[in-house]
Amino acid sequence: MVKLGANVSIAKTGLQRAVEESISYQADTYMIYTRSNRGGEARPIEQFNRDQALEAAKAHQISDPVVHLSYLVNLASPKPETYEYGVMILTEEIRRVSYLGFRYIVMHPGSHVGTGMEAGIERIAQGLNEILTGDESLYICLETMAGDGSKVGNTVEEIASIIERVNHHDRMAVCIDTCHNYSAGYDIVNDFDGFLTQFDKVIGLDRLKVAHINDSKTPFHSKKDRHENIGRGSLGFEAINRIVHHPALQEIPLILETPGGHYRQEIALLRGETDELPG
Ligand code: FE
Ligand code: FE
Ligand code: ZN
Repeated sequence: MVKLGANVSIAKTGLQRAVEESISYQADTYMIYTRSNRGGEARPIEQFNRDQALEAAKAHQISDPVVHLSYLVNLASPKPETYEYGVMILTEEIRRVSYLGFRYIVMHPGSHVGTGMEAGIERIAQGLNEILTGDESLYICLETMAGDGSKVGNTVEEIASIIERVNHHDRMAVCIDTCHNYSAGYDIVNDFDGFLTQFDKVIGLDRLKVAHINDSKTPFHSKKDRHENIGRGSLGFEAINRIVHHPALQEIPLILETPGGHYRQEIALLRGETDELPG
């Protein structure tokens, strides 16, 4: 079964808001950020109305929710204070997400900020080794990046080298992002199977736990990270629809992170309930 959802809000009522919004999209799953990407103190997770929200989700067959880690975390940073902040925030986030009972935290691996890919990979693994105890009941899903800036984790090889160096690598998984992969130079429009074959060989398909489904405002191999509405960008509806319905992506949460608030329409489109493009 296709499991579609979107990046939803936690404004005011926390998880309750996230689930209500997901119900309004007729979604099967959802993703939230539990704290602002602008920094500051996080709202206590105990104030997220967890129990009522999870009950409502269950009543609407909404499952496998995902948390996206704050963008401010950069374990690849050469600055000690940035690295330490990342260790602190991810440690706290694991506790918060465990309280919610979610199984997936998606994180951007990081940016090496000019120190080189190898050094970045090493610091990310070091950070994860400081944080993970092996007793976690969730997966840290490294998201594949678009090749922009000094990002780490643009190729399956880079992602695999991080995972290989993590002691508790059974806690490690991967989140692909169709916009990022296409921008990074994987031609998933014409050969998604080729990409999956490479992913399987280098990382192992059993680690693929989450996928972000986005079209892209920029062309193939542009190394830019600019999300576009489904069918309105360089990937196009046909390719994205094929990816969404690929056997390897059934049962895992497929999360839209597209602009403009067209999630209801995009979910209907990818379910074949309408052929009208969003926006
Ligand atoms: Fe992301
Ligand atoms: Fe993403
Ligand atoms: Zn992106």
